[in-house]
Amino acid sequence: MTSQIQPIFIMPEGTQRDTGKTAQRNNIMAAKAVAATVRTTLGPKGMDKMLVNSLGDVVVSNDGVTILEEINIEHPVAKMIVEVAKTQEDEVGDGTTTAVVLAGELLKEAEDLLDKEVHPTVIIKGYRQAAEKAQELLKKMGEDVNETDEDMLRNIAITAMTGKGAEQAKEKLADLTIKAINSVLEKENGKITVDRDSIKLEKKVGGSVDESELVEGIILDKEKVHSGMPRKVTNAKVALIDSAIEIKNTEIDAKIQITDPNQMQAFIEMEEKMLRDKVEKIAKSGANVVFCQKGIDDIAQHFLAKKGIYACRRVSKSDMDNLARATKAKTVTNLDDLTADDLGNAGEVEEKKIGDEEMTYVGQCKNAKAVTMLIRGGTEHVIDEVKRAVEDAIGDISAALTVGKVVAGAGSAEVELVKGLRNFANSLSGREQLAVNAFANAIEIIPRTLAENAGLDPIDIMTELKAAHDKGRKWAGINVFTGKIIDAWKEGIIEPLKIKTQAISSASEVATMILRIDDVIASGKEASPKGMPPHGMPPEY
Ligand code: ADP
Ligand code: MG
Repeated sequence: MTSQIQPIFIMPEGTQRDTGKTAQRNNIMAAKAVAATVRTTLGPKGMDKMLVNSLGDVVVSNDGVTILEEINIEHPVAKMIVEVAKTQEDEVGDGTTTAVVLAGELLKEAEDLLDKEVHPTVIIKGYRQAAEKAQELLKKMGEDVNETDEDMLRNIAITAMTGKGAEQAKEKLADLTIKAINSVLEKENGKITVDRDSIKLEKKVGGSVDESELVEGIILDKEKVHSGMPRKVTNAKVALIDSAIEIKNTEIDAKIQITDPNQMQAFIEMEEKMLRDKVEKIAKSGANVVFCQKGIDDIAQHFLAKKGIYACRRVSKSDMDNLARATKAKTVTNLDDLTADDLGNAGEVEEKKIGDEEMTYVGQCKNAKAVTMLIRGGTEHVIDEVKRAVEDAIGDISAALTVGKVVAGAGSAEVELVKGLRNFANSLSGREQLAVNAFANAIEIIPRTLAENAGLDPIDIMTELKAAHDKGRKWAGINVFTGKIIDAWKEGIIEPLKIKTQAISSASEVATMILRIDDVIASGKEASPKGMPPHGMPPEY
């Protein structure tokens, strides 16, 4: 009997499939490509990237997560690496480049082991052990910090901003950042929490970065709704209303048939009275400032102005939340429910001209649990990059205070960690030792890249660094400006421990996840229906 084997198709035509080594290699290549994209931006001497989207919008940035979010990444594994940056951003707010570079390097080291016929499961096991040990070593390495340690907090902020867009005004911005954090931090049973959302960063083009300021309260990019309203209200009693101060359609939904002009007049008067009543209710509560999340009818604006009440409309939900935190007002939906108890307090509410636009300052709030940093700068691009650097500083100080531990930067923590990991590897046998050593090699990418990006010889620097650490100089790091080995702790190059622990845990998680994949099955693109040109093709196609 002749056996004619028919191929069996279990997947539709157009499905792409990579299996085994090909799949692994392709995935590793994609991950390395993402890491290579951001690697040159690492550290104070890192370069910036200019990103231009399809609409021609330009972003110039040095920030890992911003770069990766701006570029259009399609490869599924590359997307997983981008997720690492996003996790780092959510959890810490800084260290996104570090995390991505580390993930890429862990995979590159794994590739070498795969070439030596080490099975992926062995690599995965070794990486897991190494990652666990690394967490333990880092925790031991960390030094204590608390909110009273102003110098340390300033150093953390300055380290975050060195070499970024905020460089020229970093001292000033560091002070503002520390003040902001001190206002919003909460301490319960000795445990500090910082809600990063309660520090609002407002941008205003014009002036210089030096003119940035902090308001113990909220700055709204809003003007008062009516020119007859006071420009400034002291001892403000603030009402927060999240429904429209208008006549709702439903209230006058009935069909109206007007047969003579008097009826029309009566109708208009009725509407006016309803609005006047609404304003009366607000005034009766004692409010002299109103922030409304929705619209305010023109007639209501007029009545509010007549009562000397300052009002803004269409205030965003996040601003409303921050206003509630800053003034301690309770947001009210139904004006019938509004009482004096719901009002918040602010020392002053004022409309101020910044650049050529009017903004509303809600300042001098007692124990404001929400503050605003107004970031100034010559152009939109400059301000955006300064804002990102300030966000990094806020994230780093919060992370340092909530965990209560810091380490020195400039590559020192990494080299110290590598030393510990190699000792650990020596206690293991055979192939797992290989994997743990590979993990240690991967971590060296951070100091190596700092050196490379500073135009220094990475081999010389790494040799010197390792020698210093072997002599017990725990915080020996790189001065990227002089190429000398320094004590990074004494130089005040300080970072939160959490940057390092988070980068290592998410990078090793994603690396092991990618190593476990031996099959990539991608469905083909949907074929276009007959007669229809494929997307983007002219009709005559
Ligand atoms: P990331 O997105 O990972 O935060 P950065 O570009 O902010 O990337 O670079 C962070 C790295 O730069 C860290 O390894 C940090 O220790 C190092 N670094 C920061 N300030 C200095 C400095 N003054 N000298 C040397 N290295 C520094
Ligand atoms: Mg950084």
